Amino acid sequence: MRNSLALSLLFLLSSLLYPREEEKCRVFLLGKSYELQSCIVDQGKVFVALDISPLSSLLKETKLTTLKKGNETFYSLNDLSNLKALSCKWDGEKKQAIVAVRLKRENITWERTTSSLIFQITTPVPLSFQTGILSSPNRVFLDIIGAHLYPAKIEENIGDNLKMRIEQHSVAPDVVRFVLDLPLYLPKVEFSPSPSNRITISLTSPLKGKGSELEAIHIMKSDGSTFASLRLSQLSQYKTLLLKNPPRLAIDISPAYLSPSLILPQEFFSPISQVRWSQFSYDPPTVRVVFDLEKETRVEIRSEPSLIQVKFGSVAPREFRNLEKLKIVIDPGHGGSEPGAISKNGVREKDINLDIARRVKVILPTVFLTREDDIDVSLEGRVNFAYQVNADVFISIHNNSMPEGRVGTGTETYYFREDSLILAQCVHEVLVSKLGLPDGGVKRRGFYVIKNSPCPSILIEGAYLSNPSEEKLLVTEEFRQRIAEAVVEGLRKYFEGGK
Ligand SMILES: [Zn+2]
Repeated sequence: MRNSLALSLLFLLSSLLYPREEEKCRVFLLGKSYELQSCIVDQGKVFVALDISPLSSLLKETKLTTLKKGNETFYSLNDLSNLKALSCKWDGEKKQAIVAVRLKRENITWERTTSSLIFQITTPVPLSFQTGILSSPNRVFLDIIGAHLYPAKIEENIGDNLKMRIEQHSVAPDVVRFVLDLPLYLPKVEFSPSPSNRITISLTSPLKGKGSELEAIHIMKSDGSTFASLRLSQLSQYKTLLLKNPPRLAIDISPAYLSPSLILPQEFFSPISQVRWSQFSYDPPTVRVVFDLEKETRVEIRSEPSLIQVKFGSVAPREFRNLEKLKIVIDPGHGGSEPGAISKNGVREKDINLDIARRVKVILPTVFLTREDDIDVSLEGRVNFAYQVNADVFISIHNNSMPEGRVGTGTETYYFREDSLILAQCVHEVLVSKLGLPDGGVKRRGFYVIKNSPCPSILIEGAYLSNPSEEKLLVTEEFRQRIAEAVVEGLRKYFEGGK
């Protein structure tokens, strides 16, 4: 009697706690379907009996509301949906619950390494995925199972020749499809093993390591001429062929291969009517780039360690440009509270730079200096100055140093944008021949002032203050005068085509 009373009390209590009956529902947990799961729907709150161990890493610091009934534990779907990493949905009509991982743009990263393009998708818990590689059109896809994308569609161009598309491919089960469109050619594709919370896709040329990688083809117009440049990971041998009927310029680079994310020109300028490129041969690996021309044109070709640059004959006759009539900005590096490099003997770079700039102004009084004295000028201030005077050209004057223990040697010239390369080459050539120090080369680096100024811009590093014998030269007026003369002569070469 006592026992049956206790039982009926228990029954009463549990029916108070669980006024709604248990029903059967379907649950998708991280893309996996579980049929005929027990669930309880109570005043808009949904509890499902399912094994939530795949989510355990997310639940370490969270206590979910649970209900116990018989042997079964029911977990609150509402509590799960409060977790930022998850997307939870309940369809009352279909009696269907979906628990998926939220996937956002910031979970997807990509980077270029030498010869590879690597995509990485990070998820809070390991997810299964399926992959595929398809041709015509070439594409690589990856279906991430159990993920829900926010926003539902993402499209991005990676380089100019590769497109990343991500979209919600299906719901119930939630699958996000990640697609890379590769119109150029199908690279070697590697995926990390499934499942994983760090899915990686790496694209490599099948010719990786067999020569130089062609990374970009640029075309631009500067000072009445059209320039094309081919950016390479390293310099390979190349041959050029200027052909008639129809007029075109072919450049064969070997050993070389096309980058999976080759950057292509956005715009063509006369006389270039079209550009074509191909992996002309695999053995030996040879890349062929062809510029179709509107008419027969004279070309000049220069190469840097990682660049082949073609100057196409002037479109309009190059106007004679008198240096005195141009707006030339000379920027003595550092100044004021910022000394720049300091030699062991206490020689300050800012003073040397200013003296050289003043000497340039003595030779060519029409130049503008970003500072005339030992004062602070911000990098932005220097660029703004170039804007204010509507500069035709900008040259920042520096001298170099190496960190502790190393001396360094030679003359270096930096440019960043392609419109500045010829200027860098002109000034550098004169600097090297006039100063007689080791040729440190023309290099590309994104220093603020040359990256942001409104005109062709370069930064010169005359000599090394950290090198005692070069420091000895820099403290002489005669040497600083030579740097100043080289700058002006380099400018004449650039604007007037030589002395
Ligand atoms: Zn400096």
